Amino acid sequence: MYSKYMPHLTLQQLEERIRASGLRMTPQRRAIVDYLASTQHHPTAEEIYNLVNARFPMTSRSTVYNTLTFLKDAGLVQELCEDGIRRFDPNLGPHHHFICRQCGKVEDVEADRTEQLVPRGLPGARLVEAVEITFRGLCEACRATL
Ligand SMILES: [Zn+2]
Ligand SMILES: [Zn+2]
Repeated sequence: MYSKYMPHLTLQQLEERIRASGLRMTPQRRAIVDYLASTQHHPTAEEIYNLVNARFPMTSRSTVYNTLTFLKDAGLVQELCEDGIRRFDPNLGPHHHFICRQCGKVEDVEADRTEQLVPRGLPGARLVEAVEITFRGLCEACRATL
């Protein structure tokens, strides 16, 4: 779900919303949320699993994956699917992405005038609620190595 004009949530806001949605806050879940709230690079589920497992070695993959699915279903993170790999994005505001073909990095691109991007020829009485564009190419760091 795309929530309009909702900013990047802080750890505290995420925790409050998680509790309000009825999920118990465990240290493992807090580690997941903490990481998501502090990162801007759209981590994969596997990356999040590895990070949480380094801090809490007994954490199962299903705990991490289920928590991510819960957060997504509750509208607290967005899920992006790129080449069949799930990535998670705590930035709930309208924005686009730039994906580097060399290092695979996914960066946010601000979108302030998305309404201008809706094609005029869109048939019927459809209501466009979100526009997401993926720009592809080389990120700054990779471009510098050319
Ligand atoms: Zn790159
Ligand atoms: Zn993003």
